[in-house]
Amino acid sequence: MQKKIDEKSKAIFFDRDGVLIEAPVVDGKPKSSKYLHQIKLCKNIEEICLKFKYSYLLIMVTNQPDFKRKINTKKNIKTINNYLKKKLNLDDVFVCYSDNDKCYHRKPNPGMIFDAQKKYNIDLKKSYLIGDRWRDIGAGNKAKCRTIFINKKYNEKNIFKAKYTIKKIKEILKIIK
Ligand SMILES: [Mg+2]
Repeated sequence: MQKKIDEKSKAIFFDRDGVLIEAPVVDGKPKSSKYLHQIKLCKNIEEICLKFKYSYLLIMVTNQPDFKRKINTKKNIKTINNYLKKKLNLDDVFVCYSDNDKCYHRKPNPGMIFDAQKKYNIDLKKSYLIGDRWRDIGAGNKAKCRTIFINKKYNEKNIFKAKYTIKKIKEILKIIK
């Protein structure tokens, strides 16, 4: 089956850690897995990606500052990302390795989403962004996407208000048609 190409595409932007794969929580904060063998796909994510594969571009947008912080290597990060791209049939992956909030690509800034928009001619107003942290929602809101916050009750303040808040990723089936 071929993806339907409209004049403008619609996309679902997925955060990586805590949305596509489980994020280990340390002191109430989610962390990135370092190695491929450590990752675990989030429950129901394979079915969800399959369901929307033909109506939306599936794009991962992920901050990976552990590279800049010298906690992890680009190679390890890329290995996980490439695995997810294949496994979940993602159309594309955008990564920001910066640790600097002034970086236009680092969420909550919208650079990665705008890069994707230019590349695929995406109608952002008809697109969704799904994230588990305030940074994701900030980026999605700034890009005028419909934002969906998966509230995992981390110990941090949610500075930005998402259009939708859910507890489990499965609930997006009631939101995205
Ligand atoms: Mg996350």
